[in-house]
Amino acid sequence: MSRRKRAPAVLKKKTAAVPTVAARPFAYRNRTLHCDGVSLASLAEQHGTPLYIYSASQITERFQLFQKSFASRSHTVCYAVKANSSLAILRLLGKQGAGFDIVSGGELERVRKAHKPALKKVVFSGVGKQAWEIDAALKADILQFNVESEMELDLLAARAEALGIRARFALRVNPDVFAETHPYISTGLSEHKFGIDIKIARALYRRAAKSKWLDASGISVHIGSQIRKVDPFAAALERVTALVALLRRDGHDIRYIDAGGGLGIDYSDAPFDPAHQVERYAAALFKGLGDEQAHLLLEPGRFLVAQAGALLTRVLVLKKNGSKTFVITDAAMNDLIRPALYHAHHEIVPVRQPTGKASITADIVGPVCESGDFFARDRAIANVKPGDLVALLDAGAYGMSLSSNYNSRSRPAEILVEGTTTKLIRRRETMRDQLGPEVL
Ligand SMILES: *Cc1c(COP(=O)(O)O)cnc(C)c1O
Repeated sequence: MSRRKRAPAVLKKKTAAVPTVAARPFAYRNRTLHCDGVSLASLAEQHGTPLYIYSASQITERFQLFQKSFASRSHTVCYAVKANSSLAILRLLGKQGAGFDIVSGGELERVRKAHKPALKKVVFSGVGKQAWEIDAALKADILQFNVESEMELDLLAARAEALGIRARFALRVNPDVFAETHPYISTGLSEHKFGIDIKIARALYRRAAKSKWLDASGISVHIGSQIRKVDPFAAALERVTALVALLRRDGHDIRYIDAGGGLGIDYSDAPFDPAHQVERYAAALFKGLGDEQAHLLLEPGRFLVAQAGALLTRVLVLKKNGSKTFVITDAAMNDLIRPALYHAHHEIVPVRQPTGKASITADIVGPVCESGDFFARDRAIANVKPGDLVALLDAGAYGMSLSSNYNSRSRPAEILVEGTTTKLIRRRETMRDQLGPEVL
């Protein structure tokens, strides 16, 4: 059933003001799957497979949905780099005014290279920041460190003093809110390693105020990823907002509230209205914030890039073992690990539009030597044969960024589609790339 149908009338009305954004930029034209104006068959011809393909216009549209829905507030969208850290995608978002949420010194260097002016809009998250990473971020004059432990706060103060640069920081509090998602990507319960117990945060801010090298500029929260219901976001922000009032009373000049990321998408073939989802999300955050006027920081990752991307792969072999049929593709878990890691579902569609209804039920798997190397199990899929191309949809987030060289496989090339033109944004790896760092 469509989410739109279930929505209360008042929200439905609001949605109408936002231009419709298709959930995916992939559609059949002349019986061939296209990304915007570009045929996936021709991309495979030109660049080989497996191949990641992203739509620039879809990423832009998603970013603009956030800009629109949060327009009534002073805010910055800090795209979570780890979702897809391609330089071209970072530049695309940076040029539109996005800031960035980073989790390592490496991601800081990516932002610097992709769009240097965005360094001042960087927030630095992560539970294990090292001195060299903190130093690099201090020198880059990033917006804020999201600090996740008392020890990290001490380290930050020490590095700030050593460099003579005052550090703006937020404590990332753990609001003890349950967000219904996969256990590996839920972070907002006190049993998780993330954040600082909200009950002791006030005392830590008080302690931090004793160091002139620390500036308590904000507070942050992030409760997990692929969260579909928006109520947990409201609940978390409500707790954070209550704490901000206390912190101000204690004399801290809190200017930023960082609401984290985590807004989920629909990976199935059910109708999905991204504009409506962002509207609901904004409404939930506004509810949690009440009258609070601090500058709002948002850290969406998946929502901006997941549905813009697909992993294009070619069928190598069809194989029957007993009663089971296997479709073996030239992409594998090293290229897209989400099904193996989270039992994640990805829609898999043939590039040549099927003419009849003929389908097979099969496991779609890669060539890697692991039973966990699967993309789908017992999936009804069009009658494919060796040599056919299929696309794994919604692979733009946590696809390439989680890829590896396992089984000594070279990682895929990446293409950015801009309307009817295409740009190779990362060439296919070669064995030379793989062997380069090794010493005999
Ligand atoms: C991973 C992460 C995000 C992005 O999460 P999405 O689910 O991709 O939106 C944002 N903030 C922090 C701190 C994260 O760790």
